[in-house]
Amino acid sequence: MITVNKTRFRKIFRLIFTAYKEKNGIFSTLNAENSGPQKLYIPKGLSSGDNKHLYWLTLVAMSDRRTNSRVLYRNFASMFSENTHLFTVGFSPSIVEMTQLFRQYQIALPVGEIKFFIQRKNHLDDFFGGDPRKIYEHVLTVDELIIKLKKIAKDNGVENLFPGAKRKIFSLLAMFLSELSELDFIDIIPIDVWVQAIVSSTGILKGNGCINVSTLEKELRPLMSKLYKEFRGNTGSVNATWILGRYQCNRCVGSDVSNTCPIYNHCKGPFTRHRHAVSSKHLGVISVPSAFKGKFVK
Ligand code: SF4
Repeated sequence: MITVNKTRFRKIFRLIFTAYKEKNGIFSTLNAENSGPQKLYIPKGLSSGDNKHLYWLTLVAMSDRRTNSRVLYRNFASMFSENTHLFTVGFSPSIVEMTQLFRQYQIALPVGEIKFFIQRKNHLDDFFGGDPRKIYEHVLTVDELIIKLKKIAKDNGVENLFPGAKRKIFSLLAMFLSELSELDFIDIIPIDVWVQAIVSSTGILKGNGCINVSTLEKELRPLMSKLYKEFRGNTGSVNATWILGRYQCNRCVGSDVSNTCPIYNHCKGPFTRHRHAVSSKHLGVISVPSAFKGKFVK
């Protein structure tokens, strides 16, 4: 059985958010403004936080399977810059048009995503007037949001309002919207692969066996939301875990990150994610004790 050591969770993630707040280590050079793809790429002619920007950000975030994929945001920005009719609320592009555009702008997404993209756009337009902030109206947590979306879908005979977008994506989008607008929502840090990796490699997960990542997400989300309240006033710190994972954990093997990683002394190093033998996808479980790659290798 695997359990979550809540005290250790608070200690480790408090260290990360505090380092961001105080601009220590990796955060002395990297922050949300200069490294988040949502900040680096924006379609031409838009101002950060205006209605069209929020609309675009919603459509790209819901297509983002890797959480903040730079290439995806860059290519989506180009596509919308040169095809401004895509911003039109109520306009439904055809499969043929979107297939051609995705190909032209080198947007490589899994099979079925083009249809999903169109459905998500249609539903954002039809049920929320093209305003993503309305998605989060009258709900405070991801669980409440999922119930709300399911009810709207059922009442309108729709199978899924935002196909392909799951809890992690709704937290990611809430994270973006909370930085750009007034959004009263609690779950604004996605429990993404980096958070999952950190809880494994820092011993927050205790015990033996396997835990499904969706179960883990459910366990961690309230802890993260509660802890993050302390740091909510510190703009950008919501990106801290992602920046740490993307720019440090990714390079931890072979590079000396002892002076830049805020939790270096508490972490065993990046942990190995196992791939499914048949599909080559990640297994969707985290095993404890995990296999670690080790940190700095001389
Ligand atoms: S020690 Fe390495 S793997 Fe662990 S949090 Fe720091 S950078 Fe990531």
